[in-house]
Amino acid sequence: MDAFISYQEIFLQYLNQTRNFVNGKCAGIEPWQLIASTLGSTLLVVWLHMFLVQRESLMSRTKKQLFRVIRKLPIIGALIQKHVNKAMNDVAANLTFLKDAKSYVKTLPAKGLSQTEVMQKIKEYNTMGTVHWEDGKVSGAVYSGEEELTKLLVKAYGEFACTNPLHPDIFPGLRKMEAEVVRMCCALFHGGPNSCGAMTSGGTESILMACKAYRDMAYEKGIQYPEILVPESAHAAFDKAANYFGLKIVHIPLNKDMQVDVKAMERGISRNTAMLVCSAPQFPHGSIDPIEEVAELALKYKIPFHVDACLGGFLIAFMEKAGFPLSHHFDFRVNGVTSISADTHKYGYAPKGSSVIMYSDEKYRQHQFFIAPDWQGGIYASPTVSGSRPGGIIAACWATMMHKGEDGYVEATRKIISTTRFIVSELQKIDGIVIVGKPEVSVIALGSNVFDIYHLSNMLGEREWNLTILQYPSSIHICVTLLHTRPGVAELFVKTVRECVSEIMKNPKAKTTGLGAIYGMAQMVPDRNVISEISRVYLDCLYKTDVSPSANTHMNGAPGHR
Ligand SMILES: *Cc1c(COP(=O)(O)O)cnc(C)c1O
Repeated sequence: MDAFISYQEIFLQYLNQTRNFVNGKCAGIEPWQLIASTLGSTLLVVWLHMFLVQRESLMSRTKKQLFRVIRKLPIIGALIQKHVNKAMNDVAANLTFLKDAKSYVKTLPAKGLSQTEVMQKIKEYNTMGTVHWEDGKVSGAVYSGEEELTKLLVKAYGEFACTNPLHPDIFPGLRKMEAEVVRMCCALFHGGPNSCGAMTSGGTESILMACKAYRDMAYEKGIQYPEILVPESAHAAFDKAANYFGLKIVHIPLNKDMQVDVKAMERGISRNTAMLVCSAPQFPHGSIDPIEEVAELALKYKIPFHVDACLGGFLIAFMEKAGFPLSHHFDFRVNGVTSISADTHKYGYAPKGSSVIMYSDEKYRQHQFFIAPDWQGGIYASPTVSGSRPGGIIAACWATMMHKGEDGYVEATRKIISTTRFIVSELQKIDGIVIVGKPEVSVIALGSNVFDIYHLSNMLGEREWNLTILQYPSSIHICVTLLHTRPGVAELFVKTVRECVSEIMKNPKAKTTGLGAIYGMAQMVPDRNVISEISRVYLDCLYKTDVSPSANTHMNGAPGHR
């Protein structure tokens, strides 16, 4: 008791001293000054906090501001603008897809065309392309191309052409189909009894939905600026999600096999982390991230974990049965994986416009849903981004899955993986090129330590092979589809690469031209806003309806991907 009193006394004494000290210091200061300085300093602290703590890091904001200032400098700014304008003109002039059109339809026909006339036109439009995807000369893009399957899904679409899953009461059969597609997918990825999901319009929407769900969960936990941790190789849909939903995206570096560096991922985790991401496989190099190891982080720090299997989901799920077992698990069998996206419109062979987002438990999916309880049009509840959706696509997706069946998918997977392995082993024999990453599934990325790999991509383009251009590091890839498994196609590809490389090796330091050169340059521009500005031209061009004077250089590919 004594001790307690004496502590209290000491405390009171200390308080008194402090008060006298502060009052002494304030002697001679008028009350209004006190109030003003208190208010001022409080505002300063609030401002400082708002300035420092933002979604975008101070570093990144400073950099952007710096480049903005440079662009405004009298001589240098004008010089940069000149280069940017030139690049914009180059891009516009080189886009092959603008050259096909002699004239454009700009208004409704005053009198509607007959069905025969429409179909005639349709045929015309359908033959405008110059890239021969039917011959398997394109990376990705068309995953099946089997005529018999196309006929079936057109018929299925036709039957359901007028339907819309927004009205399950009117189209109960359609609702059943969608639920069954989701359930079949959950079973494929070994979801438990609580697993669930939704159909979306594509991989991007599936990814957007997972990000939205986890953002809302983070908000509920009181996280003001949720962060998502994604490998540098993750699909740009995650950057899009971050942009749309106000998330901070942190890009985690990769190891030499182009798989995410798990230690770096762990270092990236903070109180604000709302989601971890891995890809199985990733788009650029086809490597599979170490999902089991990242799942351990997810469990340890209690963070939701999404596996993006958009590209190869419908391959990896069948690889074991096709005779190519993977060394690691990647699906809901891995404790810690809370969601998976898989595109039925890629190796599921369904028509474009369908994908599935799956969750290990309904408690995650409920954060994906949107409900407007007060709308005058009624209580509005919607599972995904779209309101109305095409029922025909769901029917066609369902029909594809039912028709393919497990045996069909296993057989397709066997063909695709064995073709990929064949191409890899043949390419490895070619001097001058290297395989980038670890091609475990269907994507093979190529680089070179001897010459500019974009030179090879240009040259393949001249021989009508349309590969995908990658950057950071400079490389190109081929995504093997069923079209490449047709007799002779893989052999022709390997032969063409061999010929092109031996041609290049005669003069490996030769300068790259065309789109390859643009890509090479684009990687070196420090101000990434410049690249965005130039890329906007590409997007503008998609909607141009005036005939432009044709340029004389031709280029293959465009800054999109398949
Ligand atoms: C294709 C793809 C996506 C999604 O793309 P969509 O074009 O929207 O279907 C997402 N992740 C990976 C790895 C992909 O390859």
